[in-house]
Amino acid sequence: MHYFQYKGNELYAEDIPIADIVAAVGSPVFIYSQATFERHYKAFDEAFGQAPHTICYSVKANSNLAILKLIAGLGGGVDIVSGGELFRALEAGVDPKKIVYSGVGKRDDEIEYALRSDILMFNVESEQEIDRINEIAGQVGKKAGIALRVNPNVDPQTHPYITTGLKKAKFGITMEDAVAEYKRAAQMSNLEILGIDCHIGSQLTNVEPFVDSIKKLKELISQLGELGIELKYLDLGGGLGIQYDAEDPPLPADYGAAIQSETKDLGLHLIFEPGRNIAGNAGILAAKCLFTKERDDKHFIIIDAGMNDLARPALYGSFHGVQPVVKDQDGMVAADIVGPICETGDFLVKERQVPMFKQGDLMAFMSAGAYGFTMSSNYNSRPRAAEVLVNGNRFAVIRERETVEDLIRGESVPDWM
Ligand SMILES: *Cc1c(COP(=O)(O)O)cnc(C)c1O
Repeated sequence: MHYFQYKGNELYAEDIPIADIVAAVGSPVFIYSQATFERHYKAFDEAFGQAPHTICYSVKANSNLAILKLIAGLGGGVDIVSGGELFRALEAGVDPKKIVYSGVGKRDDEIEYALRSDILMFNVESEQEIDRINEIAGQVGKKAGIALRVNPNVDPQTHPYITTGLKKAKFGITMEDAVAEYKRAAQMSNLEILGIDCHIGSQLTNVEPFVDSIKKLKELISQLGELGIELKYLDLGGGLGIQYDAEDPPLPADYGAAIQSETKDLGLHLIFEPGRNIAGNAGILAAKCLFTKERDDKHFIIIDAGMNDLARPALYGSFHGVQPVVKDQDGMVAADIVGPICETGDFLVKERQVPMFKQGDLMAFMSAGAYGFTMSSNYNSRPRAAEVLVNGNRFAVIRERETVEDLIRGESVPDWM
């Protein structure tokens, strides 16, 4: 459930017509609904009721400062995957003791930054990373909290590019190696073993792969217990899917019930790293039709947003619903909705029945709150879109549209030219 609904013929974000926002801020523009973010966060939180748990929202889904501040205000922590994300989280006022740091390729300076910031823990993804964190912690004079990210080799039945928990994936440590690595880490003087972590993929529409992973982790946890290695945290990553099209993902409450029944006897504090589930349907991308044209028997709708703004269709062939901002089109048409980028892969909609958009019409690409702006780029020297947050009957620009000057910031011509 989200707050992008029609009132009469007009699409609204909460109490504001999308058309009013575009008139004020221009197009293309990402528009987020604060009430939707809050609702999704609370639904996830309530799904775990009284069970000790922390929601560490995945910053990479939508990393705008205002969004991170909103999450922090709701009591959430964050999952980060870079020093840049750590900087954002701290700027937004996220409690460092609610920050977990994942990612296969952490640099020395990023590890040091995280140690000095006193984050809760590193989700360690390789044997060498264990050694490196121990060394740097020694130099900095801190103890590093760690969890090992294990790879339970469970198929999440999602898109291959967002499948992360299979043996052949680059993520985590294998089940086979995990016990030996925990034993090794337990001997290191600058590490404190805090937990175990897994994240098997994104956009999962079934609870079974989550439950299967927990079953595998439980075997590991009991082996560790026999060795005297006690854990505090069980981090189950993110990955709970959302409805883009006709998917029927489990409700957070069902996901919560399935996980709790599997984990209640462990006595561990649960950590979750949802990104898409919180942010995905809390945002749209509004764009404008520039031209239409016919080619053989194909109908093209050319708009002012492209794969540089919303990369998911080009990258994964993903589906984003498209709706008119004002419903006054003359029926439907089978069309491709394409951007201005010089790539054939630059489409937002491929061969689908859509309203007969005409020049100047505004449209909303739904479910663009996660992996929308954060994946956008300056390809074709296109300034990135503005971001707007709506709260009831007011809205604020939370990131200005980039200018052409922004495009060349940091560039220089060498003095021999
Ligand atoms: C991307 C990612 C997440 C968030 O995934 P969603 O599918 O958006 O919930 C959580 N944890 C890690 C380690 C990730 O890489």
